[in-house]
Amino acid sequence: MNPVKYIFSYSEPQKHLIDIEFIAENINGDETTIQLPAWRPGRYELGNFAKNVKQFFPQDKKGNPLTFHKATKDCWKINTKNVSTLHIKYNYYAVELNAGSSFLDDKQLYVNPVNCCVYIPERMNEACEVELKIPNNYIVATSLKPDTPPIPIAIGTSPQESTFMRKTLPFGERWRGVASNYHELADSPFIASPTIQHNLFVMDGVEFNLWFQGECKPNWSKLINDFFIFINEQFVTMKGVTPTNEYHFLFHILPYRFYHGVEHLSSTVIALGPSYEVMRGDSFLELLSISSHELFHAWNIKAIRPAEMHPYDYTKENYSRLGFVCEGVTTYYGDFFLYRSGIYSDFEVNRALSKHLQNHFDNFGRYNLSVADSSFDSWLDGYTEIVPHRKTSIYSEGCLIAFMTDLMIRKYSNNERSLDDVMLHLYNEFAKKEKGYTEVDYKTTVEQMTGHSFDEFFRNYVYKANSYENALIECIEYVGFQLHTSFSKKYHERHYGIKVSETTPATKVIAIYPNSVAEKAGIQLNDEIISINGYQIKNNLTEWSKYLGQPAFANASEDKSEVTLIVNNTGKTRIITFTPSSEDYYKTYFIQKTSTPTEAQKKNFNAWSKRKF
Ligand SMILES: [Zn+2]
Repeated sequence: MNPVKYIFSYSEPQKHLIDIEFIAENINGDETTIQLPAWRPGRYELGNFAKNVKQFFPQDKKGNPLTFHKATKDCWKINTKNVSTLHIKYNYYAVELNAGSSFLDDKQLYVNPVNCCVYIPERMNEACEVELKIPNNYIVATSLKPDTPPIPIAIGTSPQESTFMRKTLPFGERWRGVASNYHELADSPFIASPTIQHNLFVMDGVEFNLWFQGECKPNWSKLINDFFIFINEQFVTMKGVTPTNEYHFLFHILPYRFYHGVEHLSSTVIALGPSYEVMRGDSFLELLSISSHELFHAWNIKAIRPAEMHPYDYTKENYSRLGFVCEGVTTYYGDFFLYRSGIYSDFEVNRALSKHLQNHFDNFGRYNLSVADSSFDSWLDGYTEIVPHRKTSIYSEGCLIAFMTDLMIRKYSNNERSLDDVMLHLYNEFAKKEKGYTEVDYKTTVEQMTGHSFDEFFRNYVYKANSYENALIECIEYVGFQLHTSFSKKYHERHYGIKVSETTPATKVIAIYPNSVAEKAGIQLNDEIISINGYQIKNNLTEWSKYLGQPAFANASEDKSEVTLIVNNTGKTRIITFTPSSEDYYKTYFIQKTSTPTEAQKKNFNAWSKRKF
């Protein structure tokens, strides 16, 4: 039987409309259901991609139009009486460029198939063929298998640095790739462009490809050296069991600041910017961190997957309370692999963990909705805070839960077992057997590692809205870490109780400390601060608030005189007056090694980090 076929082409890329042809043979039945996904794996909220479909023309083999009607927002019922081959011509508006979207312009055709590939629900297990009608100088970056082997061309001299580039087929032909079923197709994005830069290396029989699209000067030796190191650490952790024998990192490097990654079966798309920063300093560490995170997803979520998403149902919400495992454990390991393999310094891993601590303590949602319930509700209000302090984060709280779980397993098993063993067990017992795991399976696996009950921990921290402070202090003490708290260095955070954005041209209120003097005086989220005591604010509230609050002369007490803010919100100005509080509102949280570790702490730290204390 011929595979279901998808042909991608375009005529006027500046209009961002991708022309797609869907061809399915062996149609039987008077009516055929056609579905487009309503969401994409990796983002647990509805995307409603059908809103980007502009034209939809189903026809038979001879080009005769077929009548149809829509059954839901993304489901079409097509009249296929006496039709053997269904040929649908439709187009998709692709103007958004991020790690999970599709985008077309005169420089590239970038497709995340789950956005725009329709399917016949009862035929999702059939093989799919993709054909791209693209200019002959375009290179295709993807994990889809090309039906004609790529032509290897040596481009480097150093055996470690360079191997070969892949080319598209010669002029006059078309690029074709295959996926073994719809799920694989949906999880195999591709970028076709004449400007892609590529390199690869092989580790333990697995081919790792690095593709860079956009303005970028890849530092190949640094990239391959560091990727080799953290990937090796992931292989060691998972005892060499790999879900794929070929993996592709697809980078979109953008000219502006950007940070977004999406995991797939055998690939990831990572969008980062700005171009001039990504190969150096902290931005390069961010590139490594997100790459490590997304690669670990090839195990955790792509293979080890909650039962309620096994398989994915693209038509509706796939509710799960296990986001603290899918994203939390992956967030923890993403950075931890960099540390354990020696790429991150002590400072860098502490900074990474402390970012999640800070998020936790700044967010009063910790007292409102548990991380498990927040995972479930990602389908309700997505990834941006709509109601202040309503939810917690499967990334930050999830990472802290994973961190504590790891340390507790190590403690109860006297360093014999760890979260590594939990993930390996889930891989062997569920992923390999093509089964999903449940909340009970996860907790049971954790408990099996130690013979110790985790009832209390799960009840109090995973399933209850709670501050993690006490549990964290207790857990991190095992490896000689301490939780440090200090007052926010920003006067307005400490004594007014507001945080403002530092990156936008306008100084906007982005967080308000509950019951602070500023809140009681009537400040609101998104208020733009225009002036303080009559002086214009232009991204310098930090300086002005500090100045106004400092003592007038040495040995004088802090100046707690009343301050007056003029704020603008939705075109209306208001005057807000309050006296800075003597109470301390926002604080800064970070973890650090103790200066007086015990021998046991040193030993535990060494077992955890593979480093000396
Ligand atoms: Zn993730």
